[in-house]
Amino acid sequence: MDPRNDMAHIEGRLTYSQKAVLWSFIAKNTPDMIALLSGDGKVLWASSASVNFFKEVLDTFTTKPVFDRIHPDDRSRVLKEFSKVTEQEINVLGPVIFRLLSPEGTWLTVETTAYDLTKNPEINAILAITRDVTSRQEAITELAESEGRYRRLVERSPEPMAVYKNSTIVYANPSALRLIGASSIEHLKQYKVIDLVHPDDRELANKAFEPVDQGNDMHPIEIRLLSLDAQVIHAEVIGIPIIYDGEPGVQLVIRDITDTKQVKAALEYQALHDPLTGLPNRALFVDRVTQALIRNQKTNNRVVVLLADIDRFKIVNDSLSHSVGDQILIGVSQRIRSCFRPSDTVARFGGDEFVILCDEADDLTSLGSLGDRLIKSLDEPIVVNNEPFHISISVGIAESSAHTLIADDIIRNADAAMNRAKDRGRRRYVIMDETSGSEIAGRLQLESALRQGISKGELRAHFQPVVESMTGRAIGVEALVRWQREHGLESPATFIPLAEDSGLIVAIGNWMLAEALKHAKEWEELEDITKPFKVSVNISPRQFLEPGLVETVKDMVEGSKLDPTKTRLVLEVTETTLMADPDEAITILKAFNDMGVSIAIDDFGTGYSSFTYLKRFPVESIKIDRSFIMGLGNDKDDEAIVTAVIQVANTLNLDVIAEGVETDQQLERLKELGCTTIQGFYYSKPIPSDTIEDIIVSDLPLGN
Ligand code: C2E
Ligand code: CA
Ligand code: CA
Repeated sequence: MDPRNDMAHIEGRLTYSQKAVLWSFIAKNTPDMIALLSGDGKVLWASSASVNFFKEVLDTFTTKPVFDRIHPDDRSRVLKEFSKVTEQEINVLGPVIFRLLSPEGTWLTVETTAYDLTKNPEINAILAITRDVTSRQEAITELAESEGRYRRLVERSPEPMAVYKNSTIVYANPSALRLIGASSIEHLKQYKVIDLVHPDDRELANKAFEPVDQGNDMHPIEIRLLSLDAQVIHAEVIGIPIIYDGEPGVQLVIRDITDTKQVKAALEYQALHDPLTGLPNRALFVDRVTQALIRNQKTNNRVVVLLADIDRFKIVNDSLSHSVGDQILIGVSQRIRSCFRPSDTVARFGGDEFVILCDEADDLTSLGSLGDRLIKSLDEPIVVNNEPFHISISVGIAESSAHTLIADDIIRNADAAMNRAKDRGRRRYVIMDETSGSEIAGRLQLESALRQGISKGELRAHFQPVVESMTGRAIGVEALVRWQREHGLESPATFIPLAEDSGLIVAIGNWMLAEALKHAKEWEELEDITKPFKVSVNISPRQFLEPGLVETVKDMVEGSKLDPTKTRLVLEVTETTLMADPDEAITILKAFNDMGVSIAIDDFGTGYSSFTYLKRFPVESIKIDRSFIMGLGNDKDDEAIVTAVIQVANTLNLDVIAEGVETDQQLERLKELGCTTIQGFYYSKPIPSDTIEDIIVSDLPLGN
């Protein structure tokens, strides 16, 4: 501002004397040091502040230039600037900042402005106004220093940090550049911040950063970032509002938690998955079922759980190396998995048990087809190390009722159904009724009724003739139990599995054996027998494993006083029972042979016994399971199996009995194949003992 204008400005208001008073007052009281200097730096006039400041040198004040008091480092610079005014290069100088020695001996920072008034004839000097700016300057330096410190801190921090303004990154420290995979900040500036956030987390990030963008605080958030080479980075990020280069921006502090996240995820995964097959484990499965039950409460959808158990896996596993067993389990898990939709959960409960959750299941018929599909998925053998393994599973299927809320209930029902499938001969499925809870209760009721029935003498022995096809004559009988209840005859199919489960089968078996022996003794008297008449009694799996079975049978046989020339006792043990522990079985069978009791392998063909064992089992005959006889004459597979069994039996010198023969066609085919012993409705159903007596007495050929 031109001082003359100032003068002009006040000219009209103050009188000359007023002006003089005012100027002398200002000169006395202003803290600024005002001085009129000659061109060579000598003081011509000075304000009071100047006089005070320079009072020690007042004697030389007007004769010697004041420049001596300037800090030596600043002096030449100041002189050079000042000369611009004296040389009349410029009219106004400054402000020039330099250090000046105070009367107290300390360095002050001052700011001087100088005006060339030499052209004004009344003054003809240079006016210098000097102001102490020490404290202001200190503040500025301090700020610069702290900013520098801060910048260094950010710059060197191992924690990635960045600044964005208007959603564009304007600064990133080296750690941040490294994390994002950018070579320089210029590289990063092409991107919006949000581009670096995983698409799935963008909404979350936008929301979380809303307050910061408006200058407020935010809580740190966990989001996934994307590096420039598309790697996912799990990060904890916080934004802090700052002023950057004079404008509002946001400083980001990022913590890379990818490792901890991955470790955590891996641990979580491990806790919820079966390490062998990678399938969910029990904990996860139960959780999924629980969720489904809760969800379906609202929608009224049913939840279906299937439980599949590999048949006789223990035998497979024990007879092979563990790694082969593992491979088989993996193979089975893949077959099962392939039967279901991706949204269904297939889990492994450990061992050889797999469970499946079908959410949103359809109707009951489709449940059956689900079971079918599951069982058929293992029709093809599982190949491990180029070796085929024929595996089958038994499946239990349970459905939630409207009231099912507890996952374990439905799983337990599926388990019960699976056990039933095993009882009914394996490689099949059983669907548990919707009201399965009451079905289980019904099972308990049936069990106690059976218990009472046994003690009340409600069991009956029926006998089915075993016939020589050439002559049509009965050469023996099989004893089959019946339960005579008030409302009618109960079939063994309903109560034998239950008796097996509960252990009642031991009592039933013993009763049956005693009954058969008693009748056999009676039959001995009826006729002149040339060949021993065979009386067969079934031994259940549980009974077979009962300690003391051999002794019990021995006592009973001896007690019966049967004539070995007239009667032969045959025990029927299923192939599956024998194969459960073949070596143990051989020991038991030998003991029976030693007391003159023969063995027949029952339900042959359903238990996959190996030829090696068959050779070692001391048995008299094998009974081809009814399921293979049914297909004779029309099913190629059944024909092949029956043919093979008969051949094997001939090779091993065993008798073959075909079970469940119902038709002429089946009988003719069996004769052709060389099977001479027949049992089935074709000749006779199982009948009460007195009717059997008639057959024995008449000794006439049986036939349709
Ligand atoms: P199993 O030992 O295989 O007995 C043969 C089954 O086939 C009997 O059923 C018999 O009635 C039936 N059968 C015979 N010929 C034919 C035929 O031509 N067509 C059809 N459809 N069926 C035929 P049952 O008596 O109902 O016995 C079923 C199963 O219950 C038996 O199968 C056996 O495993 C068990 N069982 C029966 N009685 C006893 C027993 O006293 N003790 C033990 N442990 N189990 C028994
Ligand atoms: Ca039998
Ligand atoms: Ca049988």
